[in-house]
Amino acid sequence: MAENSSFMLNLSILYRNTQKYYDHVLAQYDMGSGQLIFLLYINEHKGVTMQDVTNATRVDKGTTTKSVTRLIDQGYVQAKQDENDKRVKRLYTTDKVSKIVNDIYEYRNQCRAILAEGNDFASFESLMAQVAENSSEKLNPQENPIDFSNLRIGGIQKMTLLDYPGKVASTIFTAGCNFKCPFCHNRDLVFLPEDYEYYDPEEIMQYLEKRKGLLDGVCISGGEPMLQDTLELIKRIKKMGYLVKLDTNGSMPEKLQEYVESGCIDYVAMDIKNCKEKYAETVGMDAESFSLENIEKSVAFLKKGTVDYEFRTTVVKELHTKEDLLALAEWIKPAKKYYLQQFLDSGHLIQEGYSAYSAEEMNELRDAVRQVIPAAECRGLKEN
Ligand code: SF4
Repeated sequence: MAENSSFMLNLSILYRNTQKYYDHVLAQYDMGSGQLIFLLYINEHKGVTMQDVTNATRVDKGTTTKSVTRLIDQGYVQAKQDENDKRVKRLYTTDKVSKIVNDIYEYRNQCRAILAEGNDFASFESLMAQVAENSSEKLNPQENPIDFSNLRIGGIQKMTLLDYPGKVASTIFTAGCNFKCPFCHNRDLVFLPEDYEYYDPEEIMQYLEKRKGLLDGVCISGGEPMLQDTLELIKRIKKMGYLVKLDTNGSMPEKLQEYVESGCIDYVAMDIKNCKEKYAETVGMDAESFSLENIEKSVAFLKKGTVDYEFRTTVVKELHTKEDLLALAEWIKPAKKYYLQQFLDSGHLIQEGYSAYSAEEMNELRDAVRQVIPAAECRGLKEN
């Protein structure tokens, strides 16, 4: 048989025979070959969530749930509630596993030794890993389902040391926002002029592919990133191995929870625009109809600590008094991290006529806020 046509056949033979081998040796534990990768992954990563297992094994959610539930029913795995978030279940192997796991590793070694007879198996494994990676990225329609051409991306900063705390990152700016903060530094991202030239998401993905290992993370900023279906884009970025930071105005708490629970977000930076009384004015919305409910939900969700986060406020002289910032701090306390950012006039504001406090004044405001939130810091201070 010609080499090209034997690849699929050999793959199928290898798959079926290893399955039969594991079904046979695991039968004594009332386990099948399909459960093995889940059992070993949980054993080697104690406290993982069901989503972590799905991401790592690259099988669909339904298969993970079915296999792990069976392991739980058999007493091999325990699901315990997370101490900080009651909705999150963490998985651990039980004592029953510690009694058999060495035997299972031994069966795995035997299998490997049989397959390696008469060949350079280490090279084969390395090639196989590359082939599997190619298949995940390019062949699996479920893993790559979104036509990214619908995404409106307004810009990219290819490298920044400022946007992701402690990391070298790229920042992607999604276009469109549901607020109209008058001091917003990029009005085009909000008002989307007719001749706006959007970036091609695939070109950005190619850029990030090339920068793997050189950049630590990617910031998804806006606009408001969750107004569009950016989660699939984020999943793809995460799969490349990047840390992902999400910037949000906090107006979409359900989406925020969904994004965080996808396991693809490592850090969230949420804008807190002002104290409750001045919120509508500060986001350029009608005070009569604006509701703070969504903002409050997002604040409450982040404070549970499911994901690392910061709150931040861009401080504008004409919009924020010391009393406003103290009232804001009372509202969001206790906050893990809170940054007062000095306003900077980009020349592309939604509305003119706003100015910044001096660095000295910013430090005074920070000192006042620290009475309520001791972790408060200033960010981006320049003399003006
Ligand atoms: S500053 Fe306000 S208007 Fe501008 S992108 Fe952020 S939330 Fe939207």
